[in-house]
Amino acid sequence: MPEEYDVVILGAGTGGYVTAIKAAQEGLTTAIVEKDKVGGTCLHTGCIPSKSLLKSAEVYSEMKNSEHFGIEASGVSVQFGKVQERKEKIVQQLYQGVQQLMQKGKIDVYKGHGRILGSSIFSPISGTISVEMEDGSENVMLLPKNVIIATGSSPKTLADLKADGEKIMTSNQALNLEELPKSIIIVGGGVIGVEFASMLADFEVDVTIVEYSSFLLPGEDEDISQHLQQTLENRGVKVFTDANVNPEKIKKGGGVSVTVEQEAEEIEISADKVLLSVGRKANIEDIGLENTDIEIDNGCIVTNQYYQSKESHIYAIGDVIGGMQLAHVASREGITAIDHILNHSPMPIDSTMIPKCTYSRPEVASIGLTEKEAQNQGFSVKTGRVSFRSIGKALVAGDTEGFTKLVVNEENDDLLGVHMIGSHVTELISEASLAKLIDASNLEISETIHPHPALSEIVGEAALAVEGKAIHS
Ligand code: FAD
Repeated sequence: MPEEYDVVILGAGTGGYVTAIKAAQEGLTTAIVEKDKVGGTCLHTGCIPSKSLLKSAEVYSEMKNSEHFGIEASGVSVQFGKVQERKEKIVQQLYQGVQQLMQKGKIDVYKGHGRILGSSIFSPISGTISVEMEDGSENVMLLPKNVIIATGSSPKTLADLKADGEKIMTSNQALNLEELPKSIIIVGGGVIGVEFASMLADFEVDVTIVEYSSFLLPGEDEDISQHLQQTLENRGVKVFTDANVNPEKIKKGGGVSVTVEQEAEEIEISADKVLLSVGRKANIEDIGLENTDIEIDNGCIVTNQYYQSKESHIYAIGDVIGGMQLAHVASREGITAIDHILNHSPMPIDSTMIPKCTYSRPEVASIGLTEKEAQNQGFSVKTGRVSFRSIGKALVAGDTEGFTKLVVNEENDDLLGVHMIGSHVTELISEASLAKLIDASNLEISETIHPHPALSEIVGEAALAVEGKAIHS
C-alpha cells in the first residue's frame, strides 16, 4: 500500500526544501522526492558555487590593486584548484545543513525520480506519486492529499548551438572548470552571463559577451545596464549588443571560432571556450504531466496566483512555472502554496516587491518598476540619482563606482522602483524591499536616519535627490 501524506513535493531545490520545512512546521505530514541532491540548482550548480568563485576572483583583483591602500602585495597568483576546493567545501557544508534540516523537520526524503500517476487503484484522482528509487529498490508509491511540483529548470541551449561540455559549455560545466581558459565568448548577457564575465575578467581571462538585446541585463533600468556595460568595458571585457552568434558558422579546432552578426556586419572571433548562458528551461519532462490536466504555456506549468495548477490539489512553484527564476521567489511561492492549502488566505506575491540581484563587480540590485516601465504604465514620475562618489564610506572602501536611482510617483510620493549599481548593493537593496513592503513614501525614506559613514547613506541621499535636496551632491 502507498504511504499517505498531506503534502508530497517533487524536487528538493530551494523551492522544494523550504516548502517542505514550512509544511512540516504547520503540522502537515510531508515527503519530498529528489532524484539528485537536496538543495537543487541554487546550492549545487547556481547561487552558492557561482558566488564562491566570484568572491575568490574579487579577492585576487583587490590584492593586485592594493597599492592605493598603501599595501604592496607581491607574488599574488591564482591557485584555481584551491579556488574550486573552497567552493566545493562551502557547497558540502550547506548540503549537510539542508539534509539535517530535513531530518529535524521529520520530513521523509525519497531519493529517486518521481512521476505523477493518473487515477489508479489507490486514488480516483491523479496525484499518486511513483518514485523510481535511486538505489534500484522497488518503486515506492506515495499517496498525497496535495502535490507540489518544484522540479526547477536546466540550462537552455540553442537549437543549432549545443553544449559539448568541452569547448562549448553550459553554466553547470563552467562552474566546474578545472583550469581557467585564456579566453572565453559568453553567449547571453543576462544575470548568469554577466556574473561569469565579471568573475573571469577578474581572473584575467579575455572575455567577450554577445547579447541579443540592446542592453546587458535586459529588464534592468537602462541607466544601470549602460553603466554596467561601461564599467565592464573599462575592465577589458568586449561587449556586443544587438548581436547574435551564427550557429552555422562555428568552427572548432584548438579553440572555438564563432561569427557574430551585428547590424548586418559579420565579425569572426575566437576563444578557448564558449559559455552558453541563454536562459533556462523548465523541467516538465518525464514527471507524469501527461497523466494530469495540467496546462503548459511556453514550456512552463500554468498556475493561478496561489500556485494551483488546473488540478486544484496539484501546485507548482519555482523555476518550473517560469516568471522570475530566482531562489527567493521559488521559496516564497512554496510558502504561499502551503498557506493556501491551510486556508490561511495568503496575500498573492506582488512582482514589484521582489528584489533582483546580480553579483558582478560592480553589483546590480533593483526592486520595482524601471523609469521606463513606470512611464509606460502611465505614472508621472520623478527620479533622484546619487553617485557613490559622494558617499564617504565608498571613498574609504576605495570603491566609488556606481549610483542609486529612485523612481517615485510624482502624484503621491510612492516609491515605484529602486535601482542600484555599485559595491554591496545586493545588501543595500533590502532597505528598499522593506520600504516597498510597508508602503513607505519617498519622504519617509529621506527622513530615515542612516548611520555615518555607511554605504546605506546613498539610499537617504537619493530620496533627497528626488526633491533636488541631496546634501552631498
Ligand atoms: P531547482 O533548484 O532547480 O530544484 C529542482 C530540483 O528538482 C532539483 O534538485 C532536481 O534534481 C529535482 N527534480 C527534478 N525533476 C525531478 C523528478 N522528476 N523527481 C525528483 N526530483 C526531481 N537565484 C538567486 O535567487 N540568486 C542567485 O544568486 C542565483 N544565482 C544563480 C547562478 C546560476 C549559475 C544559476 C544556474 C542559477 C542561479 N539562480 C540564482 C537561480 C536559482 O538557482 C533558481 O531560481 C532556484 O534554484 C530555483 O529553485 P527551484 O526549487 O524552483 O528549482
